[in-house]
Amino acid sequence: MEMFINGHFTAGASQERITVINPATEEVLGDVPRGTAQDAQDAVEAAKAAFPNWKHTPAPERAIALHRIASEIRTHHEELVRLLTEEEGKPLPENEEELWWVEETFDYYAELARHDRGRVIPSGDAGQFNFVLKEPYGVVACIVPWNYPLLLMAWKVAPALAAGNTVVIKPSELTPLSTLRLVEVACRHLPPGVVNVVTGYGPEAGEPLVTHPDVPLVAFTGSLAVGQHIAALAAPMMKRLHLELGGKDPMVIAPDIETEVGVRALAYAALINAGQVCTSTERVYVHESILGRFSEELADFVASLRLGNGLDEGTDIGPMIRDRFRQKVESHVQEAVAAGARVLVGGQRPAEFRRGFFYQPTVIVNVDHSMRIMREETFGPVIPLMPYRDFDEAIHLANDTPYGLGASLMTHDPKLVKRFFEEVKAGTIWINDPLTDNFAGPFGGMKMSGIGRELGQEGFDAFRETKHVHWDIEGGVKDYWYPY
Ligand code: NAD
Repeated sequence: MEMFINGHFTAGASQERITVINPATEEVLGDVPRGTAQDAQDAVEAAKAAFPNWKHTPAPERAIALHRIASEIRTHHEELVRLLTEEEGKPLPENEEELWWVEETFDYYAELARHDRGRVIPSGDAGQFNFVLKEPYGVVACIVPWNYPLLLMAWKVAPALAAGNTVVIKPSELTPLSTLRLVEVACRHLPPGVVNVVTGYGPEAGEPLVTHPDVPLVAFTGSLAVGQHIAALAAPMMKRLHLELGGKDPMVIAPDIETEVGVRALAYAALINAGQVCTSTERVYVHESILGRFSEELADFVASLRLGNGLDEGTDIGPMIRDRFRQKVESHVQEAVAAGARVLVGGQRPAEFRRGFFYQPTVIVNVDHSMRIMREETFGPVIPLMPYRDFDEAIHLANDTPYGLGASLMTHDPKLVKRFFEEVKAGTIWINDPLTDNFAGPFGGMKMSGIGRELGQEGFDAFRETKHVHWDIEGGVKDYWYPY
């Protein structure tokens, strides 16, 4: 497939291509252009040229265009779900859900698009009028990772377009196909240049967008290291940044929770998308009085989950995206075991798959905060369990991280719930239903997990600049002007 610039599919400036493979089979799915700084330049120019008209398109018309994107995606739902499964690997039901979220996100921001443009505020004088305008920035660079390629693209593109910006999307080099196909089927009705897609590697195709003087806002989801690099690149130009970075999310299991509820919630929160979710539960604190029984039942349940190709019916967990990500998981597990941890289930590459980047879902105990598996983002299907004595200790452990994306608590005790949501530093707190998003609920991180929020009104305002207008309607000479 080709890049999409100014309403046309193009191979771009370079003759080189990037091969896209299926992580379950390692088969080639297709290829895309290896984008260059010239392609980024062309896309920004197209988006810049399209901006004035799109900005002045009445908001109700922009809303109709966004609803149409949602409806075109629904028309191609099954095809996109399949393509997403082939290039990203997670099982079909998870991609069904991702696509549903994408469709609904465009509808949600279509509705917000026509709702307001700012507010009127009280004036200091009867002959004056003061108001606050919310205006689009211009060209927004939307840089997206591979784990939810369409969802994380939609959380940026839908509010950006709703606010009147034009966009250049840079999908991950590992998963560009579903983005290109979505744009092909769903964005045909938009004026050329409103949506552009540049494919390629981050340093070659993404960085020229970050440093381009005509891109005032960069919306990025990805790793902490790349987020820090982008922040440094953007600093000299004081660019606006929206950064959704990594996490090391804790879950606390209180002693009152039913074992089955705790086990099923935890397995879902830690293993969905093979643990490759920014808000995956990556550290678990279980009350010491129940740890023995809880860990046994968790190990039995995890052992019953089926690893396989995401396209196969009955697959619970798919492959990891590439071998280098699997190697990081292996190193975290091996280092923990060398330091005294014990694997209850998993901990290996499964022998039954000759191809694909599979790793067994794993439960591990006897871990502590000196180990990387409890400190750094593992981003794989691993559940490390650690006991806690009282709730003070549980909260201390939950907060003992530089990250602050999400945190989960399993309990029916309202006193514990109140302490948890007041004292744990995280952008999202889940009680008894981990990892469930809400269109109106802002999503994003505290501490080193990022800057800004996606979704909700906050996720709309992230793509609008604030301007205060002070208007003296009479326009006469003021007694506070010179001379004193
Ligand atoms: P990554 O940081 O390697 O890449 C993300 C995107 O940035 C890709 O499109 C990549 O090509 C691009 N990129 C890389 N270097 C760049 C550069 N120098 N300039 C501009 N663009 C560049 O991340 P990944 O491996 O694709 O995704 C996994 C990471 O994303 C994990 O750390 C995960 O926690 C994080 N993530 C965060 C959220 C969130 O909402 N907070 C959601 C999903 C994933």
